[in-house]
Amino acid sequence: DKMVYYFGKSKTEGKGLAKTLLGGKGVNLAEMTSIGLPVPPGFTITTEVCGDYYKHGKQLPKGLMEECHDAIAQLEQELGKKFGDNDNPLLVSVRSGAAVSMPGMMNTILNLGLNDAATEGLAKATKNERFAYDAYRRLINMYGDVVMGLSHHSFEEAFDKIKKKYKVTEDTEVPAEGLKELCEAYKDVYKKSAGEDFPQDPIKQLQLAIESVFGSWHADRAISYRRIEAAKGNTEIANLIGTAVNVQAMVYGNMGDDSGTGVGFTRDPNTGLNKFYGEFLINAQGEDVVAGIRTPQPVAEMGKWDKAAHKELMEIKDKLETHYKEMQDIEFTIEKGKLYMLQTRTGKRNGIAAVKIACDMVKEGLITEKEAVLRVPASDLTHCLLPSFKPTARNAADVLCRGLNASPGAAVGKLVFTAVEARERFEAGEDVILVRRETSPEDVEGMSAAVGILTSTGGATSHAAVVARGWGKCCVAGASDVEINEKAKTITVNGRKFTNKDTISLDGTTGEVMAGEVETQEPKLSGDFAKLMEWADKYRTMKIRTNADSPADAKRAREFGAEGIGLCRTEHMFFEADRIIHMRSMILADDETDRRAALKKLLPFQRKDFEGIFKAMAGLPVTIRLLDPPLHEFLPHEAAAQKDMATELGVKPADIKKRSEALHESNPMLGHRGCRLSVTYPEILEMQVQAIVEAAIICAKKNIDAQPEIMIPLVGTAAELRILRAKVEETIEVTKAAKKHEGELKILIGTMIEIPRACLTANEVAEYADFFSFGTNDLTQMTFGYSRDDVGGFLPDYIEHKIVPVDPFQSLDQAGVGQLVEMGVTKGRSVKSKLKIGICGEHGGDPSSIGFCNSTGLDYVSCSPFRVPIARLAAAQAAL
Ligand code: ADP
Ligand code: MG
Ligand code: MG
Repeated sequence: DKMVYYFGKSKTEGKGLAKTLLGGKGVNLAEMTSIGLPVPPGFTITTEVCGDYYKHGKQLPKGLMEECHDAIAQLEQELGKKFGDNDNPLLVSVRSGAAVSMPGMMNTILNLGLNDAATEGLAKATKNERFAYDAYRRLINMYGDVVMGLSHHSFEEAFDKIKKKYKVTEDTEVPAEGLKELCEAYKDVYKKSAGEDFPQDPIKQLQLAIESVFGSWHADRAISYRRIEAAKGNTEIANLIGTAVNVQAMVYGNMGDDSGTGVGFTRDPNTGLNKFYGEFLINAQGEDVVAGIRTPQPVAEMGKWDKAAHKELMEIKDKLETHYKEMQDIEFTIEKGKLYMLQTRTGKRNGIAAVKIACDMVKEGLITEKEAVLRVPASDLTHCLLPSFKPTARNAADVLCRGLNASPGAAVGKLVFTAVEARERFEAGEDVILVRRETSPEDVEGMSAAVGILTSTGGATSHAAVVARGWGKCCVAGASDVEINEKAKTITVNGRKFTNKDTISLDGTTGEVMAGEVETQEPKLSGDFAKLMEWADKYRTMKIRTNADSPADAKRAREFGAEGIGLCRTEHMFFEADRIIHMRSMILADDETDRRAALKKLLPFQRKDFEGIFKAMAGLPVTIRLLDPPLHEFLPHEAAAQKDMATELGVKPADIKKRSEALHESNPMLGHRGCRLSVTYPEILEMQVQAIVEAAIICAKKNIDAQPEIMIPLVGTAAELRILRAKVEETIEVTKAAKKHEGELKILIGTMIEIPRACLTANEVAEYADFFSFGTNDLTQMTFGYSRDDVGGFLPDYIEHKIVPVDPFQSLDQAGVGQLVEMGVTKGRSVKSKLKIGICGEHGGDPSSIGFCNSTGLDYVSCSPFRVPIARLAAAQAAL
């Protein structure tokens, strides 16, 4: 197979090929070349070669270097320079680039091809000695760093010495002879640390650089990044075979004050505004901008420096957006006034920006409504639903300083100073804010664990900012007033000291850093959000319900667009202080009469709850699940609490202990719960149904359209449902008669499908059901045989070893559990073709599970109130 694809004026071989083969960077370099943008020529080594490299024990495949030679020869011809030449050398960059972008996670080496003689030649050819030695020192440093894994520190020390000697602070102020000395010093550092001389043979440099880029695919930070992305639902990233390598002719942003380099987004990735958002540095190369070495300038001011280059950049920006019909993230370099494009890719943005950009692009005629719906990652809508600081609280807040508003949101947490500490304290349940001078790719684990990120250097396009934005995480960058003492675990801001025990608040929208905890508030949704939701509703075919147990939750979910309640859990209603006592006396009762007496006291509470919920959901269905958990969950287990309870109920503590022990089960999740409770204690079912019916009658009198659906949990055999359905029907009639209710009450009776046997016999179960609702939490638990409450012990290992791709309790296991769902649907509908079927497990709010539900023919999904908008969008995406 062909291993190398050329791009340049003479030919562009990679045009139109897949990202999975050439990587995102490679494909887009070819694409930009072919639409006539100024791109330095080069070639791409495929991701397959990386796969082979690992398959064969880290050996480059035979013939690869020959193919590279041919491509180099083509480059030499196109540019009139020679690789390894002493007079006019061709230099290249060796760049990583996987199919899914992993900002800064892998290796890149610039100025490759220089050696002692070639540097002299380059100085003569360009008549710019300073530049030539600047390029050489960068190569020795980067090559040492990246290829040989030498410590960056010794290089830095050597540089500091030279700066001191020449009494300057900025890299750019070091004169030519200083850089020449620096190259000598760097070669010494290299030799000392690597145990050999810096390689003078450019071909050897090239080969080792290629291997090191492949090697960086398996660097810890790259692996971590992929794992975190995969856990966030990025399924693409889990299946990649490796990275491509791009070898590209160098252009020089470090040739003097008429040169520079920059990065940017074609639109603002925080707000979505259609305004170029970028930064550049004069007389600098590549990494300088993102590494926070000097503080870059905004591209908005570039015109003052080089009007023509700025104008061309803006033209290219428009051309790129028209071509890709997407917001782009670009990298560029200006060499003596001439602009070159070095990279373009789809720009990462937070959910707020994603919504605005999608809506704007429809207005601009770039994309259609359907494309807009498909374009916003459904789970990113959570960013739009993020809290912000309460205006009154923030006016009163103790503002310490201001940094760059790098990624919006409001974060409140305790200070942590390392990624490791962030992880540990997050796992211990704390909200933490990670404070770093500048985050490096090694910090991704800590960034993922933190609620917010604060850096003291670095710009709005720095690594911290880009990664935070992609994750919708609050970030304030470049807050230069924050002095960090990592060892002492303190920060000092304008003379005030804070330790890792102190809480601060970060406003990623304004860039403010505040002392203490500032109160937050719920978000306000913009017009664009409503517009996108309107389009989503137009194209989706499934209904979206919510899981809610209280009128307040029901009301909020309805505002988010819920079309009913798919799961109202009744057990939560028994835990309030004035109710639990009756529940407990019911459990303690010796006979049915006493039980009924206790239940009678619970009835008014239940009725009132249901009335409130029906009101909040007037005109929409409300699925109420009858009591589900085992009774022991309602009894206290500690002696002290048992004693309190005894006093309250006027019984002996020993009685409570005895009852609690009697209810003890080895496997409560597979024990006396769900419909099994109603079989043993039908009076519980009767009380709950009576409360539902009475609430519905009260609503009917008030002209409120209540639509209760009574759901019997944990059914595994048709007989259970047959018996309990009869009980429910009888109770409905008795209650109606007692209340002398004449009119019709439309009450459906159905079941939760959550035991594998119910799926296997769904045709029998369906005989007695008006509806099915898949309880995929229990169904997953029972299909895998994993106790949902105990997976913490092994699931992380399972995910790491790829035994399961993701947590099956978060994203539905389509291959296994999914088959049971499909079977349940098919068998159920074979008896009742119109059987109403939904899902109410956690999976109801997970975009990929929603896609599965759509293709399986479910009528609705039900999820927590805050996930309703996500589900609406995901359902539309599944339908399109
Ligand atoms: P990353 O994937 O980490 O962004 P890149 O491969 O894009 O790494 O390289 C980082 C930077 O190096 C680029 O943004 C660019 O500024 C610089 N660079 C890469 N190749 C070249 C080149 N051929 N000429 C000049 N600068 C380059
Ligand atoms: Mg890049
Ligand atoms: Mg269940």
